[in-house]
Amino acid sequence: MIYDSLLIHTKIWNNLLSSVNSGRLPHALLFHGNDGTGKEAHAIELAALINCESPSDNGACGDCPSCKKIKSFQHGNVKLILPYPRGKISSADDPSIRGLTEKNIEQLREMMVEKGKNPYARIEIENARTILINSIREVKKDLYMSSIDKGWTVVLIFDAEKLCIPQPTGANALLKVLEEPPEKTIFILVTSEVSAMMDTIRSRCQQIYFPPLASSFIEEKLIQLDLSEDKAKVISNIANGDIRLALNLSENIDELFNDLKLMIKACYSPSPSTWQAVTIRTSTLKRKSMSELSYFFRTSILYMRDLHLATNESSNDHFIFTNLTDHFRKVSVDYPHANWNECINILENTFENIQRNGYLPLMITAMLIELKQQIVGEKVKPFSINDWIL
Ligand SMILES: [Zn+2]
Repeated sequence: MIYDSLLIHTKIWNNLLSSVNSGRLPHALLFHGNDGTGKEAHAIELAALINCESPSDNGACGDCPSCKKIKSFQHGNVKLILPYPRGKISSADDPSIRGLTEKNIEQLREMMVEKGKNPYARIEIENARTILINSIREVKKDLYMSSIDKGWTVVLIFDAEKLCIPQPTGANALLKVLEEPPEKTIFILVTSEVSAMMDTIRSRCQQIYFPPLASSFIEEKLIQLDLSEDKAKVISNIANGDIRLALNLSENIDELFNDLKLMIKACYSPSPSTWQAVTIRTSTLKRKSMSELSYFFRTSILYMRDLHLATNESSNDHFIFTNLTDHFRKVSVDYPHANWNECINILENTFENIQRNGYLPLMITAMLIELKQQIVGEKVKPFSINDWIL
């Protein structure tokens, strides 16, 4: 294989292997499913397999000259199409490279090197909002001009929904060749937003759905990367089947736990002064991106979920924050009337309202008042943050 660290979707991969072995590989495939499921890497593995000089039963050898070139995106038969910025492009006949600045080209080169090593790395050019018709025309010209060389020509199209948005010019340019590609040519379109794609494109491809990876699968992977078991468990649950997100989160795990600490402090604190800290922190996260803010909420929701289990006397094995077992037991005794399910609803509603452009400081303050009511009721029981350690 090309990647040692790719989490293989066994069923999908075996089906692809048998299509290759029986000579029935479709000429257009559409890999779709959530982010961070390894779709792009599986596409690269397939491109490598059908060009490999000594493939094994499981896939490409990873070592032959062809595999090595594919790893570094330097294989003449493997073409990569990505969304590009318009840059200096003024007509549909201009070469697509005119869309890129020198800085873009340099970054693109670095991202490709990284992608050759890390199956979950992103290749994404700043300000690239669409797949340009220029890129499609170039590939088409290439396909029809190149002599029938040995091996397969593979056209990889990443972020393929960008063929259709904001305008479907790229998609329209692709339609005909997608239907009748030259011999020994295969298109692999990859997207996390299949619903944004035109039916005419989708129907010309064999669609393969990549389901989210199981949390236990991701957890195992994180432990292999030397993360402690409790942290791996928390991250794999927040990541929700997205290994790319899980790997990113594992680099910022301390920040994530500090944020949770802040949130918990505010929930139990008798003094609303702690609330300001939550407002400031959530504003900062939102400014970075809505996704960053969503991790804050997801972490808090998982914490409340564990408390709900603790109150219902679930066994410790069911906790996600396995390091907080004692804390959960203590809280469930100290606050026997807390309604943790309702707390989860409050958190979910607040995040939804913020996404709908609700005024964040107001939403967060209202949320904390409601949470406190659900947890401590009218009477406030003092709680010390030193009672537990993350
Ligand atoms: Zn090989």
